[in-house]
Amino acid sequence: MRFRFAPSPTGLLHVGNARTALFNWLAARGSGGSMVLRIEDTNAEHSTGESEARILEDLRWMGMSWDEGPDLGGPFGPYRQSERLQTYQAYSDELLGRGTAYHCFCSPEQLEADRRAAVATGRPVRYAGTCRTLSGNVVRRRLDAGESAAIRFSVPEVDKVEFHDLVHGTVSFSGEVIGDPIIVRSDGRPAYNFAVVVDDALMEISHVVRGEDHISNTPRQLLLYEALGFSPPVFAHLSLVMGPDRTPLAKRHGATSVAEFRTRGYLPEALTNYLALVGWSPGADDEILPIEELVRRFRIDDVGQRAGVFDPEKLAWVNRNYLKALSPSRLATLAVPFFQQAGFAGAEPDGGGTVFLGYIAALAVGAVDRLEQIPERLKFLFEFDVAEALSDPEIRREVEGSEARRVIAVLAVELSARPRLDAEGFLDLKAAVQNETGCKGRALFHPIRIALTGCGDGMELDRAVPAIDRGAEMLSASGVRTVVGCRERAVAFAAALGLS
Ligand code: GLU
Repeated sequence: MRFRFAPSPTGLLHVGNARTALFNWLAARGSGGSMVLRIEDTNAEHSTGESEARILEDLRWMGMSWDEGPDLGGPFGPYRQSERLQTYQAYSDELLGRGTAYHCFCSPEQLEADRRAAVATGRPVRYAGTCRTLSGNVVRRRLDAGESAAIRFSVPEVDKVEFHDLVHGTVSFSGEVIGDPIIVRSDGRPAYNFAVVVDDALMEISHVVRGEDHISNTPRQLLLYEALGFSPPVFAHLSLVMGPDRTPLAKRHGATSVAEFRTRGYLPEALTNYLALVGWSPGADDEILPIEELVRRFRIDDVGQRAGVFDPEKLAWVNRNYLKALSPSRLATLAVPFFQQAGFAGAEPDGGGTVFLGYIAALAVGAVDRLEQIPERLKFLFEFDVAEALSDPEIRREVEGSEARRVIAVLAVELSARPRLDAEGFLDLKAAVQNETGCKGRALFHPIRIALTGCGDGMELDRAVPAIDRGAEMLSASGVRTVVGCRERAVAFAAALGLS
């Protein structure tokens, strides 16, 4: 079996298209078939090489690969439509020669007037057929005179066009709505409906799996297959990916492109796993499935007709699952760019710096939906500022009580005499402060938290405190932003409160 993904490189890869790519890829890999990547770039104004490169990168990032494509070549290349113009011309010449295509000289104004007239009289909007009957001589004369002409396919008279769709079952279109489509525009570029048929046929694609927005193009394409003497592939039109309000997922719903999800810190395995669940169910209650398992279970025939709703909450849940399963070294590698973005790491943290960043990322990872949120949880390490903490009225109130002041004063004295804290050192410190002040529970911990982190809440102190002091020992050459140690924090806090 041969599947293909055929993106138009006119922007970022939309998650709906990524899902189309994924279903093709899963079907190809699961069936031992081939996956073909074809770039549909005949729209010269909007297609860019940059967009093509980013689409390929996003597909690879999600874990997909292909057997033939513009970057790899293959037996049915070239795989960019802009490089196949001669092929399209050969087939349009053939149709012209056989009289199943004709030149059309209608101007846009003429076509618009015809369209309005059809709407006004309740007739189906389709090409009026004006140029269908022009004689060969007239056509030649007008072409020789330099008049520009498109080429239209002369659609045969049919009552209906019917086909079996793997997702939708029998699909039937009345012949009445099928006007003669343009197959080559007046500037010589092939139209989508024509190029796609020529390519899918010549590339021997057995299964066309694509978005439902193309279902109404399919009857024209089927008639073209027939006219060109090709046998059509099997079709599967996937319901569109919808936003929570059941309209097609678009900008106003938030992030829509794979690139955006990537920059926000979703893991590729999470996005891929989640997209597989939009419109398909692996059965049972399993939802967190590694890509190999998706390949094993996926059947294109099991894809439902119901629209898949893209649910950001569920994506976040899937992402949390994968975040928790990351190995420390992969977490470190993935988190570094987000620390850099937050200004907590320089351009090139060294080995020790990367280990430290991985260690602190692991402290935060259980409490976030995505990597991008990790630095925010760790601000207490890098952005300790006594004056700022005390400018918060609630914190100020907390530390003005006599018990809190006593805890902070003792804490500062104790810390001055101690080495940097690890988990055990912190236990010992707590016991000493408790002994000396007689405070316990919240009366003990809260002032300690405020003095050491500058915040009234955050992760457990047993984890935060050793992280602070481990950070304080990092050398500046490690490429990690300076972390003020616990001792310096307590002393500064005590001083600001006039306790020393
Ligand atoms: N280039 C078309 C698109 O991106 C592909 C349609 C098809 O798969 O036939 O919508």
